[in-house]
Amino acid sequence: MEELFGLIGHPVEHSISPLMHNAAFEHLKVSGHYMGFDILPENLKESLLALKLLNFKGFNVTIPHKTSVMNHLDDIDEKAFEIGAVNTVVNHQGKWVGYNTDWQGFILSLKTEGLSLKNKKVCVFGHGGAAKAIVYACINEPVKSLEIFSRRLEKVDSWFRALADKHAFVELKSYDHYEEKNNYDLMINTTPLGMFPETNISIVDTALAGHDHTIFFDLIYNPSETLFLKGGRESGRKTINGLDMLIYQGIGALKLWLPDIEVNRHWTRDDVLKHLKHLV
Ligand code: NAP
Repeated sequence: MEELFGLIGHPVEHSISPLMHNAAFEHLKVSGHYMGFDILPENLKESLLALKLLNFKGFNVTIPHKTSVMNHLDDIDEKAFEIGAVNTVVNHQGKWVGYNTDWQGFILSLKTEGLSLKNKKVCVFGHGGAAKAIVYACINEPVKSLEIFSRRLEKVDSWFRALADKHAFVELKSYDHYEEKNNYDLMINTTPLGMFPETNISIVDTALAGHDHTIFFDLIYNPSETLFLKGGRESGRKTINGLDMLIYQGIGALKLWLPDIEVNRHWTRDDVLKHLKHLV
């Protein structure tokens, strides 16, 4: 019988996860199907019960449910609990267990480029759900310094505040304190600014930011080069988009659902790229 997998979020229509996972099942000759479900927050609890009744093997979670879903799970992996966000849920003998593969996706995408976070001076723009996985990865390595920029400091989640209180190398800052002449080794955009279709905007001008070896990382993968990355590339520095992070978090989820499979990153990447060409 076909194994069932899904994605819950709101909205989900533009997600490429169904394409990525269904293509993986085809390559792996796994009899499985992955589908997206647009779930409103008020229907979250019932949706999880429905997926369990239908014997789903697992599902991914995206905006706006990554934190609220934790209230409806039977168990939560230690790291996902520390991050305070779940992006992958596994059906372990009728029990929903939550995990987070976003933070590993980020670390592995850096590793693919031969990079590590250790002892880097890092700045992160934005403090939403995705930023939590990035900040968690930075604390774990650990980086040398971490500055998190917010347009509304009073709105910053207590999760970030607790980290800034605990670790002297973590600072929360408003954009008034952002300086273009800076010495960050890695500048990371976790805001949606620059994402298709509003591509003519960037959280900061990167052309003159940082130093000769600053690396620019944008979580956005559509378009493949945001204005944030373009500024870095045109001024001769290294840039990385969010595609590999997306692929690695997806592979992480697949491995949790089907521990015996061997996923090839290259065909997953090719499948996703083929699809993105139609979008951009
Ligand atoms: P989110 O929870 O909505 O967080 C977005 C953050 O950006 C918030 O801190 C928000 O600040 C800030 N922001 C939005 N507009 C801004 C503006 N005009 N100026 C300054 N800050 C602004 O979203 P998310 O889940 O973290 O996702 C963020 C981005 O990452 C999206 O583009 C998403 O597609 C991408 N993403 C990529 C991957 C991947 O695997 N590559 C994974 C997850 C997410 P306020 O709170 O002040 O609004």
